[in-house]
Amino acid sequence: MRELSETEFHRYARHLILDEVGEAGQAKLLEARVLVLGAGGLGAPISMYLAAAGVGTLVLLDDDTVDLTNLQRQIVHATDSVGRAKVDSAAETLSRINPGIHFETHRLRLNADNAAGLLAGCDVAVDGSDNFATRYLLNDSCLAAGVPLVVGALSRFEGQLTTIVPGEGRPCYRCLFPETPDPSLTPRCEEAGILGAVAGVIGTLQAVETLKLILGLGEPLAGRLMLYDALSASMQEVRYRRRPDCPSCG
Ligand SMILES: [Zn+2]
Repeated sequence: MRELSETEFHRYARHLILDEVGEAGQAKLLEARVLVLGAGGLGAPISMYLAAAGVGTLVLLDDDTVDLTNLQRQIVHATDSVGRAKVDSAAETLSRINPGIHFETHRLRLNADNAAGLLAGCDVAVDGSDNFATRYLLNDSCLAAGVPLVVGALSRFEGQLTTIVPGEGRPCYRCLFPETPDPSLTPRCEEAGILGAVAGVIGTLQAVETLKLILGLGEPLAGRLMLYDALSASMQEVRYRRRPDCPSCG
């Protein structure tokens, strides 16, 4: 187990007094490596909370640059970052939050050729992407690598999340959505709009699920889809099962 420094004892004091975390748990967080796909609306709260929590290595992936229209929800970026690469802007903010952890930044999109390399050695992957093609690819890559995956999605006043835990009998993202839905039914934030703080709700829940997975605490959101509706201020849960004919995990 990694020994905590005196500064780390101070910084993580509110984790350390939780019996369920303690020094051993904080050491696990500091030794963990997490891939965060996307430095946008979901990636912002995901990466900020994971950095603050002391997740030792964050692998950040995004090929985009910061646009003024992003700032309404992508709170890891500031006004003076408009025009910069999102991964650079995010890494700068995150290193100010916590200079004691490591960042790997990749200004590129996930593809079939780079996925395995990016996931190598990761304890958890978190999906903050905004399209089904990337979600399917990350799902398949995580299954192949045996890395748990926390998926989130947003639209307008709603959000959803679920956790894919690779293993015997457990369902994957393609068991939940076997086919790409009609794009007109699942428009991206740029087209449909999004109440910015809804991204904060879902991204923060993704960060919580990620920390639970690293710490081995509680029940992961596996086989369950959590649906958040901001307008009715309600959460619902839908259970889903493995499909025997699933092309990804069947
Ligand atoms: Zn499946």
